[in-house]
Amino acid sequence: MNLKSLIRTVPNYPKPGILFRDISTLLYNGNALKYISDVYFNRYNNKNINAIAGIEARGFIFGSIIAEKLGIAFVPIRKKGKLPCDVISEEYSLEYGTDSLEIDISSLNNNSKVVIVDDLIATGGTAIAAGNLVKKLGADIIEYSFLVNLPDIGGSTKLIDNDYKVHSLMEFAGE
Ligand code: AMP
Repeated sequence: MNLKSLIRTVPNYPKPGILFRDISTLLYNGNALKYISDVYFNRYNNKNINAIAGIEARGFIFGSIIAEKLGIAFVPIRKKGKLPCDVISEEYSLEYGTDSLEIDISSLNNNSKVVIVDDLIATGGTAIAAGNLVKKLGADIIEYSFLVNLPDIGGSTKLIDNDYKVHSLMEFAGE
């Protein structure tokens, strides 16, 4: 299936110079969702993975599809201030300023084998912050999985250089 053709590219959003890769149009296609779910199942079934950690917000969509199909836990990694429980936080840099991600301290432990899921990797800042949270709870990161990789921005290389495995379903090179 040609998943790339289902992504809507919006130039200059949310600001000038950014080519926004909008997954909404892929979500409108039920066959694509089914296809993606099957690809993930074949990749992760019987791999001793017991949790999917999805990054808010679009990582929740694909992360829950995978977790449901495998019958394993889904752990939301949330933006600051959203979780009503004891959390640990990890700050990461944005182009201007910083933001934080948080995880419930009861969600994972040193028996957890985790795949971290988001819709897209660009600089990798979000993914690295999410990974630091997972590691602080003692869990193992089996792999990072993204629907879209923008390889030329360098995030996936950063993860690979730090000995993480990175999987993606499509790449947009040159941006
Ligand atoms: P980064 O931390 O730079 O890897 O950015 C990853 C996060 O920002 C993901 O959660 C994406 O949803 C979002 N993002 C960054 N760049 C883009 C882009 N060009 N198109 C769509 N989403 C993006």
